Amino acid sequence: MKHENIEIAGLGADAKAFLARPKKLLIGGEWVDAASGKTFPSIDPATEQEVCQIAEGDKADIDKAVKAARAAFEGPEWGKMRPADREKLLLNLADLMAKHADELAELEALDVGKVLMFAKIVDVAGTIEYLRYMAGWATKVEGQTLDVSCGMPGQEFQAFTLRQPIGVCGQIIPWNFPLAMCIWKLSPALATGNTCVLKPAEQTCLTALRLGELILEAGFPAGVVNIVTGYGETAGASLVAHPEVDKIAFTGSTPVGKMIGKSAMDTMKRLSLELGGKSPVVVMGDVDVETVVGGAANAIFFNQGQVCTAGSRLYVHKSIHDKVVEGLAGAASSFNLGSGLDPNTNMGPLVSQEQLDRVLGYIEKGRAEGGTVVTGGVRAKDKGYFVSPTVFTNVKPDATIIKEEIFGPVVVATPFEDIEEVAGTANDTVYGLAASVWTRDISLAYKMARRIKAGTVWVNTHNLIDPNLPFGGFKQSGFGREMGREAIEMYTEPKSVLIQL
Ligand code: NAP
Ligand code: MG
Repeated sequence: MKHENIEIAGLGADAKAFLARPKKLLIGGEWVDAASGKTFPSIDPATEQEVCQIAEGDKADIDKAVKAARAAFEGPEWGKMRPADREKLLLNLADLMAKHADELAELEALDVGKVLMFAKIVDVAGTIEYLRYMAGWATKVEGQTLDVSCGMPGQEFQAFTLRQPIGVCGQIIPWNFPLAMCIWKLSPALATGNTCVLKPAEQTCLTALRLGELILEAGFPAGVVNIVTGYGETAGASLVAHPEVDKIAFTGSTPVGKMIGKSAMDTMKRLSLELGGKSPVVVMGDVDVETVVGGAANAIFFNQGQVCTAGSRLYVHKSIHDKVVEGLAGAASSFNLGSGLDPNTNMGPLVSQEQLDRVLGYIEKGRAEGGTVVTGGVRAKDKGYFVSPTVFTNVKPDATIIKEEIFGPVVVATPFEDIEEVAGTANDTVYGLAASVWTRDISLAYKMARRIKAGTVWVNTHNLIDPNLPFGGFKQSGFGREMGREAIEMYTEPKSVLIQL
């Protein structure tokens, strides 16, 4: 297929020029073909059209990339670089991303099926802010000095801790926020002096590869960041198993996270896992219905529900349940579905055929298990991976669609009467990533925030994150926290130094 002949409406000249360049692997500061010579297609989810081919890295390429990352980690250029200079490189990268913000947003909208306006605000501008925040940490890493009582009476000691980089970090990311996930993973690792081998999700490699170009332009030494595109079962699994990788940072599904955790333990790698969720949205009876309808719609329909914190279980006080469901169904049916690059669109397609099949499968299961579809519940359009935003009611507490993560625009609304009981219902899940509570009663809000078992509890909002707020999961939603100081701790090893004076 001649990709240079493809016309994609809504792409600027820079994005087109990027698509026309070959998509190779970034290893040791060079763009190289996969050792096998293989490639795989990148698909536009709005049209099902192939937009380019991408190098398919596997074990051999991962091995080369890990060697390059190890050499960069041990070498003086990066290993002895002043923190202030690492900060400067990260800020250079942020400036370059800002300079190419429109291009990055267009590529992200094309690759994932995102609404361009959201891609600009959330995926690009938000990610640049995150990068600048993390750049600031490079110069603020600190240990402690500690009083000790060890040794014999009369002996004197000085004790302190150092926080040192872990080494070579293998980073594996999902397709729902590809550029943001690259920066969430790379920036704390680089701020603290690690080196990285990043494996993007096979469905969404475009912005990771453009970012790779910008990383070289920003001036990072060769081998500090390596990017190997390819499949999880081959490239991803060999990164996790590689004995020269010191840490694995993974964002993705809980089943894959469990496999990775077991494999990483063979060589005792440091590990952080950001996994799935089934986040409750709990609406008390004292709220403004219109506000809550907007909030609940955003909680589940943003990014087509392909958000790990998506508010997929909606519990509404009986007194306003029907009004909220009616409003939410109205909001759901008013979305204009289309290509994210079309300015008239306010909801794009799902990312892939696989995801479309998965979401439609859950909707069928929901019906088969007795649920009522209030609106949506069907594939929309016959080209592209579109699903109409879907609201279910009358779903039993043990139904599949209330237990399992769907990762699509599907919400289950359930009424409740008793405030004590709803906290238990909200926690009745193997997940614990996030939750929101909607109320005007400040004491109730605090009480619910304490009782809900989740890494983030929002009150009167949902899906809002901040670089300074730790983010991660309780229970089977993960292991470790990203963002803020916690991310810096996750990418450094504390070392105790004890000196007898
Ligand atoms: P996924 O299937 O688990 O894939 C995530 C990444 O892991 C991809 O790069 C994938 O590669 C790779 N992978 C797959 N099998 C692997 C293996 N055996 N060894 C090593 N790597 C492997 O998840 P997804 O479908 O892309 O993303 C959706 C999931 O991510 C949802 O469950 C969502 O909740 C979760 N998520 C969580 C957060 C959070 O912060 N907690 C954020 C976003 C998403 P390929 O796909 O290229 O084969
Ligand atoms: Mg794609």
